[in-house]
Amino acid sequence: MSPFDSLADAVGPAHCLRAPEDVAPYATDWRGAYNGTPLAVLKPNTTEQVAEVVRRCAAQGLAIVPAGGRTGLCGGAVPPANGPASVVLSLERLNRIRSIDPRDFSVVAEAGCVVQNVQQAAADAGRLFPIQWGAQGTAQVGGMLSTNAGGIRTLRWGNARELVLGLEVVLPDGRILDDLRRVRKDNSGYALRHLFIGGEGTLGIITAAAMRLAPALKRVESAYVAVPSPDAALSMLGRFLESGAEVIGYELCGDFCMAMAEKHGVGLRMPLPVGTAPWYVMVEIAAAHESVPLRQMMEDTLGDAMEAGEALDAAIADSEAQRRMIWKIREDYPDCSRRDSPAVGTDTSVPVSAVPEFVNTAERELKARWPGGRMAAIGHAGDGNIHLSLHAPLGFAGDRAAWVAEAAEMEPLVNAIAVSLGGSFSAEHGIGQSKRHAMATHKSPIALELMRVLKTALDPDGRMNPGKILP
Ligand SMILES: Cc1cc2nc3c(=O)[nH]c(=O)nc-3n(C[C@H](O)[C@H](O)[C@H](O)COP(=O)(O)OP(=O)(O)OC[C@H]3O[C@@H](n4cnc5c(N)ncnc54)[C@H](O)[C@@H]3O)c2cc1C
Repeated sequence: MSPFDSLADAVGPAHCLRAPEDVAPYATDWRGAYNGTPLAVLKPNTTEQVAEVVRRCAAQGLAIVPAGGRTGLCGGAVPPANGPASVVLSLERLNRIRSIDPRDFSVVAEAGCVVQNVQQAAADAGRLFPIQWGAQGTAQVGGMLSTNAGGIRTLRWGNARELVLGLEVVLPDGRILDDLRRVRKDNSGYALRHLFIGGEGTLGIITAAAMRLAPALKRVESAYVAVPSPDAALSMLGRFLESGAEVIGYELCGDFCMAMAEKHGVGLRMPLPVGTAPWYVMVEIAAAHESVPLRQMMEDTLGDAMEAGEALDAAIADSEAQRRMIWKIREDYPDCSRRDSPAVGTDTSVPVSAVPEFVNTAERELKARWPGGRMAAIGHAGDGNIHLSLHAPLGFAGDRAAWVAEAAEMEPLVNAIAVSLGGSFSAEHGIGQSKRHAMATHKSPIALELMRVLKTALDPDGRMNPGKILP
């Protein structure tokens, strides 16, 4: 039996892809920035099949690259070019909701469940699965947890990590760690699940997760607010947080970003004309009970913000369609930006109070270094995670590769500013292949040493997602 016959035997021949055209989509990442050459793509259907594949790969010395929805932005789900002989293990067929318990406010979902399907299952049960971001219609639970995804509601419910009660994981030697518990309190030793959350598949393969649900939102109000500066946006955030309403989204968007959304978005209608202000805030407040006077809270808070000069103009959504439009603009933005012009980007976070200083310093330094470059700033200001990009100057003659080469120092520069303000160079997308160099620069030697000790203890042969995270 050849190595691939043995793997095909573990998952069924139809689920062991080897033809170049079948493998190709798994060989490149969402951005098209990373390309690898997996020898096969395996699609197990059960946790036991995952374990069997892992054991058989170990016997044949093959490395394993787990793949979820492949929306990751750091090249994590693609084998590295010139890496060891690898297979991609796609979790897409492990896509069952195993249980949902409204009284327990919990759901147990397999790793290949598309995040939006978990949201829908929760809604059907009268509950809320609170994590939300632009790629939720494709990203999967396993990918979401392995990157510890954030998104627009982190300020209220935290990153994906905060939702996890228990995990089921296939270890690099093929054993199954069944820690799929739904208890809220368990201090029985190390919280092992947290090693795999944010582990990007380097320590094991997540096959299922028990996660918290929240009460369904009975009232929601959104507004699109023109603000004069990031500092004004920060003051207005404090005002909303003190308003008595639950603030569940607070995004800061530069006017240039909104101009790109208007130009390239399909069916997008801007709530206020582009050019109204240098900055905008998209804010969403909510309540789990019908009787909360949420509209009044929104109007009062915005009225006070205008009086204080924090807000210049505002459009409060008057219908569900208008509310959805505000958030569609935000969700469609990454695609619009990609279509607009070559850009280099970052994924930084700073303490919320440092957002204005971070944005202003970065703008000043980027202007000085690349005078024609156009800074795009957009992000989850409510949790301090601002994505800064530098777009090529208007009329730039080269392609993306040429701009990436010319602006190669942009990311290190912005990362250094964020770190100097007490922030991080990797807020929510993870490390993958793209930020390993920044790990070497910014992570303390002790933290790196501990990570290597853990990696070696769990995966001594280095077969789990090689070439990711550790520099
Ligand atoms: C338009 C767009 C908007 C985005 N917005 C946000 C945002 O606001 N916030 C945010 O946090 N992210 C965002 N992302 C990034 C991305 O959606 C997230 O990182 C997401 O969590 C990745 O999930 P995935 O299923 O696509 O994982 P993949 O890309 O398939 O994999 C990501 C990593 O996890 C590993 N992995 C996947 N499944 C498993 C598993 N079962 N066990 C172990 N390891 C596994 C992979 O090997 C890889 O290292 C965005 C992406 C796009 C394209």
